Amino acid sequence: MNVTHLECAACGSRHEARRLHNLCRECGKPLLVRYDLGRAARSLTKESLKERAADLWRYREVLPVEEAANVVSLGEGWTPLVRASRLGARLGMTALYVKDESQNPTQSFKARGMTTAVSMAKELGVKKLAVPSAGNAAGALAAYAARAGMEAHIFMPKDTPRANIIECEQTGAHVTLIDGLITDCGAEVARRKEAEGWFDVSTLKEPYRVEGKKTLGYEVAEQLDWELPDVIIYPTGGGTGLIGMWKAFDEMEQMSWIDSKRPRMVTVQAAGCAPIVRAFEGNQRFAEEFPNAATTASGLRVPKAIGDFLILDALRASHGTAVSVTDEELIAATREIGAAEGIFVAPEGAACLPALKKLLASGEVNADERVVIFNTGAGVKYLESFS
Ligand SMILES: *Cc1c(COP(=O)(O)O)cnc(C)c1O
Ligand SMILES: [Zn+2]
Repeated sequence: MNVTHLECAACGSRHEARRLHNLCRECGKPLLVRYDLGRAARSLTKESLKERAADLWRYREVLPVEEAANVVSLGEGWTPLVRASRLGARLGMTALYVKDESQNPTQSFKARGMTTAVSMAKELGVKKLAVPSAGNAAGALAAYAARAGMEAHIFMPKDTPRANIIECEQTGAHVTLIDGLITDCGAEVARRKEAEGWFDVSTLKEPYRVEGKKTLGYEVAEQLDWELPDVIIYPTGGGTGLIGMWKAFDEMEQMSWIDSKRPRMVTVQAAGCAPIVRAFEGNQRFAEEFPNAATTASGLRVPKAIGDFLILDALRASHGTAVSVTDEELIAATREIGAAEGIFVAPEGAACLPALKKLLASGEVNADERVVIFNTGAGVKYLESFS
């Protein structure tokens, strides 16, 4: 295994690998996994990937699990990067792609984070896991915990999409519905976890979900034959996927797989919950909690993200931007993408389309650029949004 240590993303303080950690013990910010990438690159080569399984564990040298027997998998990752020719043509574009994450186990990209988080929990001897969730993280945790023979304790807002609540119950999780937002659910986990002996797998409050999500970056690079796109448009809640991809690009550069050129990273949020857009526009390093957060795109209903500064740093370093779209726009976009490409996208994924249109109109994206939008989940889990 190639992990050397964990490092605080804010203060740089070093934490020992092979121990259970939540946040930095010095400053309370997220920890990131660091690897001996020279060593990883000896066996993980572009050539070697051609022989490997079609799941995210193909990048195992840059993933944290030591013993293969601890990997808890349902076949996640290596989802299609669909060339959206018909949708692109309607926008006058020549190279638009959809990374279709609805094809993951539990029908969302939360599977990527949970396969690594639950595998590491298993490796480090944890038996009971807890998570606050807007929906899909809960479904993924329930599934991977069941697969690992662990308990899952899940806290969701009571207006979470029904499909998410039912899937958790049917995969054996302990589900508590809270009259509040995901931040209230997080507070409830924090209040009870010590007495109950739960390990908190809230996004970025443990170091391994972001490692699974970073494989999005490796996959996009590999699927585009190691030439990164010009623009990445990402529906941002906690920002784990965006932060993960940004980390993956640095790792790939250190392994001499790519050069220093980066995509412009674009955050999309719903107008009813857009803390990152607001902070980006206000030139702030951290985002303030967004009051009265409301959107039907439940994965975007994150009024306060602990990784806010990492999202904002990546947007700025990449010369990207942050855009908000209304619920009306993103619901209309679901049908537009579905009818053009045959993918019934989640409302979060749909939000990328009106954002792209705005960027084309303002000239911030050119029609001949290579653009990847992320469909992070499956529309079929959000039937309430379409009624
Ligand atoms: C969780 C979620 C998001 C937001 O992902 P982050 O990495 O936390 O920003 C977007 N879309 C869907 C469908 C989600 O479940
Ligand atoms: Zn720190």
